[in-house]
Amino acid sequence: MSAVTVCTVKQLPLELQVPASERALQLDERNGRVIRALQRMSAEAEIPKEQLAILVGKFWGGSVRLTVTFLDNPPQDLRSRILAHMNAWQVCADVTFVETAGTAQVRVARQGGQDGGYWSYLGTDILQIAADRPTLNLDGFTMNTAESEYIRVVRHETGHTLGFPHEHLRQEIVDRIDRDKAIDFYRQMYGWPADKTIRNVLTALDESALISTAHADPTSIMCYWLPAEIMRDGIAVPGGSDIDTADMEFARSVYPVGHDRFAVRRGNQIIFQQRMSDFAGQVVGYGNGSSEDQYLVGDWTGDGKDKLAVRRGNQIIYQRNITDAAGTAVGYGNGNSEDQYLVGDWTGDGKDKLAVRRDNQIIYQRNITDAAGTAVGYGNGNSEDQYLVGDWTGDGKDKLAVRRGSVLIFQRRLSDSKGIEHGFGNGNSEDQYLAGAFHM
Ligand SMILES: [Zn+2]
Repeated sequence: MSAVTVCTVKQLPLELQVPASERALQLDERNGRVIRALQRMSAEAEIPKEQLAILVGKFWGGSVRLTVTFLDNPPQDLRSRILAHMNAWQVCADVTFVETAGTAQVRVARQGGQDGGYWSYLGTDILQIAADRPTLNLDGFTMNTAESEYIRVVRHETGHTLGFPHEHLRQEIVDRIDRDKAIDFYRQMYGWPADKTIRNVLTALDESALISTAHADPTSIMCYWLPAEIMRDGIAVPGGSDIDTADMEFARSVYPVGHDRFAVRRGNQIIFQQRMSDFAGQVVGYGNGSSEDQYLVGDWTGDGKDKLAVRRGNQIIYQRNITDAAGTAVGYGNGNSEDQYLVGDWTGDGKDKLAVRRDNQIIYQRNITDAAGTAVGYGNGNSEDQYLVGDWTGDGKDKLAVRRGSVLIFQRRLSDSKGIEHGFGNGNSEDQYLAGAFHM
């Protein structure tokens, strides 16, 4: 009986572990969670760097954009196919893998033999590997390999590259494994010496180190299949064959999709980008598209995704999902041309609300259902001032800015009546000013 190839997470050689942990801490402060907790507990005890290094997470921080190259010059169709499965994580997380002709961060090989098998280094560890060496291996993958294997293996190894460890090493699962039977099983099936099985199957992750789901997920794409015969309870761990719902939730929590993109409205069609690099967009229909409808954008429900609203007089009809054709109506403002409608998360609860601007008064809601709002004065309210909304300080609450010529005067708090001046653009009518969380 020939065994399915089992993945191993490649460990850095000892001398690279300290520099790797230092780099990981620079890239994502979440990687230092355990260390900070340890240092709080033992303020006076000096913990050796080498010991701390293994407790550092390997997440990339923020928006992940990694370059990819293939070391053995495979045909274009194979490269595209592997890349497409790597980018399967894009559905749930702010993650993009892009092929490059130059030196890449992720280097894919298909080698067999001594360094064969399926493996990847974990997350930011790949930055320590020499530029001509692979960081991810897909032993023997060709265009003839089954699609199910592309889904199972390429997505799994990519998960490691994103910093996700093995799910079967959660304490909950490791506690169920019979140690001796496991060592026997992996020796017979894979020829693994005991220490390899101990490292890859029997050593639970430090739960305090995990940014993770509450419970182990036995069908996670990051989980091994563990046969019933090595389990104390005689119940197999099925392992994952694709990114499942819990994986999606987890990936989304580590790398939230929250970057603004562009959309065009054409009549009642709204065509939006999913990624900044998209040339073609997704089309949804909403509103009646006539000049009677003014289109607004906001995350009305707080799920991290922006949706549409149309304003018709003083009625604002907002979507709960971008695909909704019908929305929920709320009344706000007086709806005549005197009121300019603004959208922002004024309270920092993650949900956008409305404000109307009437001269230099901005009257904002605390909840989307509020009929009456709170008034603040800002700017001079005449046509010289263009009002913009944004979280200029990064505290999660939107504030106001007015643009006057080439000067932007932004608030630090919504209650501020005076702002901070900043010059940008040339300020003439040729320039239209926008605000958004733009990233390259
Ligand atoms: Zn693995």
